[in-house]
Amino acid sequence: MQTNHIQNQKANEIIRKCVHCGFCLATCPTYQLLGDELDSPRGRIYLIKSSLENNNFSMKSIGHLDRCLTCRSCETTCPSGVEYGKLVDIGREFVETKRPVWQKAYRFSVRKFLTTPVLFNSVGFLFKHSKAKGETINPKANFEKVLLLGGCVQPTLAPNINHSIKNILSKLGYEAIETPQKECCGAVDQHLSAMDDALAKVKYNIDKWLEVDVEWIISSASGCGLMVKDYASMFDESDPYYQKAQIVSKKTQDIAEFLVDKDLSQLNLERVDIAYQEPCTMQHGQQLSGLVESILNTLGYQLTPVVDAHLCCGSAGTYSIFQPKLSKQLKADKLKHLQSSNPQMIVTSNIGCLMHLQKGTKIPVKHWIELLNG
Ligand code: SF4
Ligand code: SF4
Repeated sequence: MQTNHIQNQKANEIIRKCVHCGFCLATCPTYQLLGDELDSPRGRIYLIKSSLENNNFSMKSIGHLDRCLTCRSCETTCPSGVEYGKLVDIGREFVETKRPVWQKAYRFSVRKFLTTPVLFNSVGFLFKHSKAKGETINPKANFEKVLLLGGCVQPTLAPNINHSIKNILSKLGYEAIETPQKECCGAVDQHLSAMDDALAKVKYNIDKWLEVDVEWIISSASGCGLMVKDYASMFDESDPYYQKAQIVSKKTQDIAEFLVDKDLSQLNLERVDIAYQEPCTMQHGQQLSGLVESILNTLGYQLTPVVDAHLCCGSAGTYSIFQPKLSKQLKADKLKHLQSSNPQMIVTSNIGCLMHLQKGTKIPVKHWIELLNG
């Protein structure tokens, strides 16, 4: 775990890279909606800088940070390579101590509910999105094994996603072993600045996953995949977990990265007109923009370009819970653009975006991988 001194040093290094050019304002969803400099990346960088220097943060400033989606669209646009995502995490950790008690209590309850499987699963089935479709194709004993990140909410909400992946991988000669997922990947705790809890989950996962002798760890929720690929950045280089985290991160691939060089011609495809929503964690976080589209195009799907595809749909982890008004506006804008080509189905790469978008449309929203297990 990193000390405050190291965190401050890191924050300063990131802040120094910003040349105040303002290019990022054009691609920031909250600046686009609110038009306030302090709801832009440049404004938030300024707020974090002054708060760390003065050891203070006003409630108004906390609001500006809370409205940030952590979509990292600004990072994709920034010509100076400012690591805004890392900076805002440092700023938020500092801000957390300044919050009023009622905010701390509310955030604590939401976080515990989402990250405690026994609590979430007791009501999660009420929000179930889909059932596993069709038969299970069993792998042969000699198939190469890969570890599939089951996800903490995905198996309850949309079990057809992991079912589809297992079947597809069986057809391709792999056996997907699902992680015995007792813990979330740590993203929810990290987003809500509960770093000690996040680190406990990260360490637990690293130890458990390294016990399994596999070359690849497959993720199908781009939010979780991003978090896992970034595990090493949570530790000092002198921490024994740093090396272990690097091994886990290097083994981790999004399902699209794993499939891109495989022969998919033997798969049964569900043929429908689709629109693809590329999650921020896929395009800005993992920097895998266009990968899923290229696979779908190769398989014969016609994809119409989506207006403002770089802007967040408003899901963004727990954002839809804490910022419902902005989240709904972003969802409505995203659905308007996705539906403009009259698709029969919207597909995406992240369970959070899937559930969020489905609440705003009657058109089925699925994970794109489900199309390949038709
Ligand atoms: S974050 Fe990057 S794009 Fe935005 S103002 Fe700073 S240097 Fe310019
Ligand atoms: S992460 Fe997204 S919402 Fe936050 S400042 Fe950057 S572009 Fe704006």
